[in-house]
Amino acid sequence: MSPSLRQQVLRKIPKVDEILSRPEMADLLKVHPRAVVVEAVRKGLERLRSEILKTEDLSDLDDGIFSFENLYPLFQREVTVQIQPRLCRVINATGVVIHTNLGRSPLAPSALQHMIEIARGYSNLEYDLDRGDRGSRYTHVEGILCRLSGAESAMVVNNNAGAVLLALNTIAEGKEVIVSRGELVEIGGAFRIPDVMKRSGAFLREVGTTNRTYIGDYQRAIGPQTALLLKVHTSNFRVMGFTADTPLQDLVQLGKENHLPVMHDLGSGCFLDLSQYGLEREPTVPEAIQTGVDLVTFSGDKLLGGPQAGIILGKKAILDLVKINPLTRALRIDKLTLAALESTLLLYLDEKMAMEEIPTLRMLKIDRAVLKRRARRLLRSLSERIKQKTTPVLKEDISQVGGGALPLQELPTVVVRLKPVDLSVNGLEEGLRKAEPPIISRISKDGLILDMRTISDEEIPLLAAGIEKALAKTAESKAHRA
Ligand SMILES: *Cc1c(COP(=O)(O)O)cnc(C)c1O
Repeated sequence: MSPSLRQQVLRKIPKVDEILSRPEMADLLKVHPRAVVVEAVRKGLERLRSEILKTEDLSDLDDGIFSFENLYPLFQREVTVQIQPRLCRVINATGVVIHTNLGRSPLAPSALQHMIEIARGYSNLEYDLDRGDRGSRYTHVEGILCRLSGAESAMVVNNNAGAVLLALNTIAEGKEVIVSRGELVEIGGAFRIPDVMKRSGAFLREVGTTNRTYIGDYQRAIGPQTALLLKVHTSNFRVMGFTADTPLQDLVQLGKENHLPVMHDLGSGCFLDLSQYGLEREPTVPEAIQTGVDLVTFSGDKLLGGPQAGIILGKKAILDLVKINPLTRALRIDKLTLAALESTLLLYLDEKMAMEEIPTLRMLKIDRAVLKRRARRLLRSLSERIKQKTTPVLKEDISQVGGGALPLQELPTVVVRLKPVDLSVNGLEEGLRKAEPPIISRISKDGLILDMRTISDEEIPLLAAGIEKALAKTAESKAHRA
């Protein structure tokens, strides 16, 4: 293939100005800002150009691809892409309940309502209505947090990574923090305990081994430089077999004897004993507080089921220092988050209400019969043509909690498995991912899995429509290529 021939073909691509002067473009220019349309045309032509550069045999190309009629839909699509938000809802068909990449916890209706109300107008965010004077944004949730956990004092920041950073910096800047080797974890999104420790200005003092750490290991490491004993929840993994872990109570006792504060990064942080609902037993936040630990930190959007936030609970004397640390201002929680968090916490006053209203908790304890009904509904919503093309079957499978919570917990679930007949599983996965709204599924060794646990009943019609559309589209692009 001579480069000059390719040059000749590329020269056939119309110029941006040429396109813009077409009378048909007037409609687009009437509705959208000129800059948006110009960018769309530029992007559309760029796409055509890269298509030509990718084509091996240029004699395959039909001159029709340069026609305005062929290009116009491309420009329209590019305009739509530009004016639509990039951050959009997706349907989570993965079965991972607390999916960090998909935004972790969906919010309860009352939390959404509260957010809208606070966002729409002014609020008493930092205004004390009793005194008619300046107030603090942190007071709104402190009462309910202390009531639910039994802690003396509470504080909330942007996220749990921020909470850990802030606490370490407040208590141990320039001093040593003793941590078990088995707890130097990395959480998704590059949160590593040793790195956060470094940035906080504290020095890490590792003790014990990967699989076994005893109270004596901590004891021997205590010296004049020690400022804190830290226990970290090994959220997303478990060490199995020959292991020994120092219980929080023992660390608290050791801290007391040596006049050292003890902190527990709980990670997920759950207020309810989920073993009543058939899940693994996890120490709850109130149980951690009961040990007498000085500080506990955890996320707002993991098992708690609220918005992204970092919650710090514990002894008043330490929390008072945390609250006046200048870093607090850099990590401060936003008013919308605060609204959602407060409403989520209020639901916990009634355990039954929390389990029903908080989507994360509801999805974790959902009945298999409900999942089965949902799967059947999806099957009924698919057309005969699509059924032939995807051979859907209802199957039992396992879903995951996610978010680093209960990593070994297997949640028996019901899924719909699709096995496309004239398309690869990867092709179908991509088609669904590009649907509107995008559908995020799971690929297994024998097909594409749609897990009913993380889909709501309202999403079933959208899911069915997405599958129909994905298959129609792939059929179309195949015909186009042929
Ligand atoms: C998830 C997690 C964090 C980070 O919390 P974010 O709210 O995501 O910032 C910190 N520590 C542990 C143990 C965790 O599980």
